[in-house]
Order: sequence, then structure tokens, then C-alpha cells
Amino acid sequence: MAGENRNIHNALRQVHHNLSTFSLNGFSISGLSTYLQAPELDFMVDMGECPLSAVPINHVFLTHAHGDHARCLMRHHSLRKMTGIAKDAVYYIPENIVENAKAWIKAEAFFENVPEYKFRYPEIKSLAPNQRIHLAYRKDLAIEGFPVEHSIPTMGCTLFRYKKKLKKELLNATPEELIAKRASGEEITIDLYEPLISFMGDCKTESLLKKPEIFDSEVLVIECTFLDNDDESMAKLKSHSHLNEIVRVLESIGDSAKCKTIILNHFSMKYSEKHILSTVEKKIPAAWKEKVKVFL
Ligand SMILES: [Zn+2]
Ligand SMILES: [Zn+2]
Repeated sequence: MAGENRNIHNALRQVHHNLSTFSLNGFSISGLSTYLQAPELDFMVDMGECPLSAVPINHVFLTHAHGDHARCLMRHHSLRKMTGIAKDAVYYIPENIVENAKAWIKAEAFFENVPEYKFRYPEIKSLAPNQRIHLAYRKDLAIEGFPVEHSIPTMGCTLFRYKKKLKKELLNATPEELIAKRASGEEITIDLYEPLISFMGDCKTESLLKKPEIFDSEVLVIECTFLDNDDESMAKLKSHSHLNEIVRVLESIGDSAKCKTIILNHFSMKYSEKHILSTVEKKIPAAWKEKVKVFL
């Protein structure tokens, strides 16, 4: 068992998933580390480790304060400075933990003997529940955080691709007509936000039902800490999701889900890779088998 687990216990051995228009790389085992990078989107979620591949990524969303998700946030900030990246990365943090995050960041700097006059906070954007904001350096992408139920304040998030689309009534207009309308100050386009990927963060399975729009995302990442039938009460106690409950949610949703891929991550470190793969294969209903993947 120990030998079998060795691979999935190495947080720097990254998992790679090629999705339709972007890839998702990183690692996620409960209690050890979670960090999920989408390099083509210049975006990542959580920073339980900060491998060098994370350093150039300019936008980081933090779901919650648990160490295995947050502890390398400032390592990211300092590695950028050390490797000569002048641009500030932007850290998107749920508004109800921003003050604590700032106190932690300052304490860490003082622990490293940074003098008060030299200390400055990294670029932090406080994210209110259900507030949608465009990413600082990618105006074609917008993030929206939503609260989920975990043992401490936690947010999931959806990343949207933003496009402008010609108004329906103008689809048959000639280029000259459109130019004239635009010149007269008329708005000829509408804003379109396509949900690309949603990350649930650590949460109870019930959180999936409180935000049903997440199933409209092209990709949905769901934490699935517990798998075995004996562990259902443990999942409730620890405020994590259980595969049996996820299966019940999927069955209740049926064909209405637009998402193309569901990625299960954040498995408990007590399960071996073999056990995770065989249990998911056994429990996921046939209709969902094509869509559901495991982040291993
Ligand atoms: Zn966790
Ligand atoms: Zn947690």
C-alpha cells in the first residue's frame, strides 16, 4: 500500500489534463497539497505548492486558508521577484478572509526580517460573493467567486470567457450600416460570458446543488475527498464531498448538465491510486462515464 501510494503523494509530480481549449495541470490530494494551473488561461487556483511552472502565471485564486491550499502563496510572489518578473501577480482572495490573509502575509515578511519600511503587500483583489470581475491582464476572461460550505470560509469560482457579439437584430446589416451606427454612438454588440471552468474548492456535496449554474461550465472540478461507503459520516464531519453523494447529485441532474468534463480531485491520502481508479469506475453511472475524469 505504501509503495503503491508513493506516486500520488509527490506533490511536484504534476497531473496533466488536456481539455478542449486549455489544459489543467497540477496536483490535488487532501491534506497534502492542492494547486491547479491553467497556463493557457494565465490562471491558477490555490497554491499548496509553488513549482516553477506556477511562477509565470499572473492570476491566482485562493479558495480558502487551509495550509495545503494556501501555504505557498507568498512563495509565488517572492519567486517572481527573484526570477526577475517585474509585473505584479494578482491574488484573488474571498473578501471574508482578506484581512486574515494580509495579517498572515505581513507576519511572514517580519518572520523573514523584512524591515517595516521595505514591506509592501502583493496585489490582492478582494472577491465578494457572486461578484464578476475581469482578470487584470486578461480582459477576455472574468472570474466570479461563490461561497461553498466547508469547515472554514471557502469560495469556489467560475472563470468565464468574455466576448462581444453583434446584436441579433443587426446580423443582416451591411458593414457600412454598422460603421454608421457605431459612429452615431449606438451600441451594436452585446456582452457574452461563456463559463469555461468552475472549481468547487473544498466543500460538502450539498454546495453543488446551491449553485446549479456550475453544471453549465465546459469543465467542472469537484472535490471528492471520500470514496468508501464507510466514510460517508466522515465526509459530513470534515465538511468534504463523498463520491456516493456526488453520484446522487449527477443522477438528479441527468441530461440537463451542459458541462463536457467533470474532474474529481482532492482524494484522501489514505486511498491508493489503484483504489481511487477502481472505485470511481465502479460507482460512476454509465451515462456519466465519458465525462467524469480523475485528477491523478
Ligand atoms: Zn483541502
Ligand atoms: Zn480545506
